[in-house]
Amino acid sequence: MNMLIRATAFAADRHRNQRRKDAEASPYINHPIALADVLANEGDVADEAVLVAAILHDTIEDTETSMDELVAQFGREAAAIVAEVTDDKTLPKAERKRLQVEHASAISGKAQLVKLADKICNLRDIAACPPADWSVERKREYFDWAKAVVDGLRGVHPVLEAAFDRAYEAKPLAG
Ligand code: NDP
Ligand code: ZN
Repeated sequence: MNMLIRATAFAADRHRNQRRKDAEASPYINHPIALADVLANEGDVADEAVLVAAILHDTIEDTETSMDELVAQFGREAAAIVAEVTDDKTLPKAERKRLQVEHASAISGKAQLVKLADKICNLRDIAACPPADWSVERKREYFDWAKAVVDGLRGVHPVLEAAFDRAYEAKPLAG
């Protein structure tokens, strides 16, 4: 519990000047907290490393945070999960998206849980508070890409996979 609170404070600080892409520009930290909430309260996940990694999952990718720092503060296991769900930002975006689909089945079960929660939360956000400038077609492409990633990790947590499938039902109709 103490480690989880520390991770939340750490992520809130690292993401402090960032906003989500919705029209209201919600505080970024709402998103990692939503992942941990989905895992703990919809998925009954109690594994501390998974919940800590969910809170920290975008720190390496989107803030000035290093793997060494996460290892020192939160231990090897949580840091390794974060590393597994971190895209290589030196690669072009399309390649990163392709690699997420390709790697979904090969990452650890704990990293798969974080990835599954991330896709649930992002589909819910696109349905309820989407990026302001996205066309229907772009939202539809995102839903299908997220489903391709999740299809690669099925079996890891059937209850959360069902939550993903319900979120997917909100895919916008072609305009
Ligand atoms: P982005 O990767 O740019 O944006 C999606 C990501 O933004 C999510 O995965 C999430 O990541 C984060 N995010 C922040 N706020 C929100 C929010 N409110 N709702 C949902 N997600 C949010 O977009 P794409 O996935 O579309 O990837 C870009 C690709 O799309 C490129 O390959 C590009 O070429 C292509 N493209 C397509 C267009 C089209 O019209 N079809 C137009 C322009 C580009 P996280 O969880 O990490 O925060
Ligand atoms: Zn995320």
